[in-house]
Amino acid sequence: MKVRIDYDLCTGVGACEAVCPEVFAMRDDGLAADVIEPEPHPTLWDAVRRAHEACPEEAVVIEEDEE
Ligand code: SF4
Repeated sequence: MKVRIDYDLCTGVGACEAVCPEVFAMRDDGLAADVIEPEPHPTLWDAVRRAHEACPEEAVVIEEDEE
């Protein structure tokens, strides 16, 4: 799994960090989130998917490995 944020969509709501702070961290300016773990460990995948669902802007982009 790879994770990124679509910065054309992200408005800095912060839901992603609230759900999964291991992978997402708000920038100091509060305008957007950074992905601090672009290739998260499988133990975090459920939380990343919840963050994807929690983001009101659908700005959390998940790319699942095809296997
Ligand atoms: S929840 Fe969505 S809009 Fe809010 S900071 Fe995270 S990626 Fe951006």
